[in-house]
Amino acid sequence: MRLILLGPPGAGKGTQAQLLVQKHGIVQLSTGEMLRSAVAAGTPVGLKAKDIMANGGLVPDDVVVGIISDRIELPDARKGFILDGFPRTVPQARALDELLKKKHLKLDAVVELRVNESVLLERVEKRVAEMRSRGEEVRSDDTPEVLSKRLASYRAQTEPLVHYYSDQRKLITVDGMMTIENVTSALDRVLDYLGMGSSPAARKTSKKTSAKKSSKKASKKSSKKAKSKPKKASKAARKASKGPKKAPKKAKSKAKKAKTKKRRR
Ligand code: AMP
Repeated sequence: MRLILLGPPGAGKGTQAQLLVQKHGIVQLSTGEMLRSAVAAGTPVGLKAKDIMANGGLVPDDVVVGIISDRIELPDARKGFILDGFPRTVPQARALDELLKKKHLKLDAVVELRVNESVLLERVEKRVAEMRSRGEEVRSDDTPEVLSKRLASYRAQTEPLVHYYSDQRKLITVDGMMTIENVTSALDRVLDYLGMGSSPAARKTSKKTSAKKSSKKASKKSSKKAKSKPKKASKAARKASKGPKKAPKKAKSKAKKAKTKKRRR
């Protein structure tokens, strides 16, 4: 399984990636983590990245593409990986397409965790407090000032990837405002219907159906259950999701129900 988790800082990508790693025995490849290790080790990449990261900017594309290209060659990534924090720009996404093509690897899906920006600061503050209480070192870029820069760079440079992957019909949008457990369940359902779930039923589905068909089903089913908001760029998915434009009556009423379900904060 090869997945990308897309979402602004504080959307819960890291948390969900770790849970997927445990369930599916694949690796989480977080460029942020790799860069922090490089900074701590004082490597040439780390020296290049240090100030950029501390200021909430983006490290040059060629640097992160190089890191990822080397990393996915390692044996532990053979079974699959979740990219967390990469790609972050359209040129990075193009470079990833190229390098996966060269390595004869296929990207299965891109999951966008969509969140309301107003909760992100609160979430990051909570993360900082929890890290402090565990006696862990707090990230130097987890401050309100730097966070607002990181959010601005997400909006300007990373959000266009939503369209990029939507055009490739790879995008699935999940409501990241739900509780961690509900986001996890939504992800499980999406993966089940893509034929990549961890349950025996999901594996059976994967033998029977193609990923394309299953992804349409996933979109419909997730919309039905009203816990995720898949938004693949297919007609079926657009119908199933609660898009504001021309949503069919049925989908609209299901979406309405979704809104009334208990959400986090
Ligand atoms: P993260 O842990 O994903 O929030 O990343 C922390 C910081 O590392 C970001 O604010 C960037 O400065 C840098 N970084 C991580 N991933 C990338 C990437 N794909 N492209 C450019 N910079 C990155």
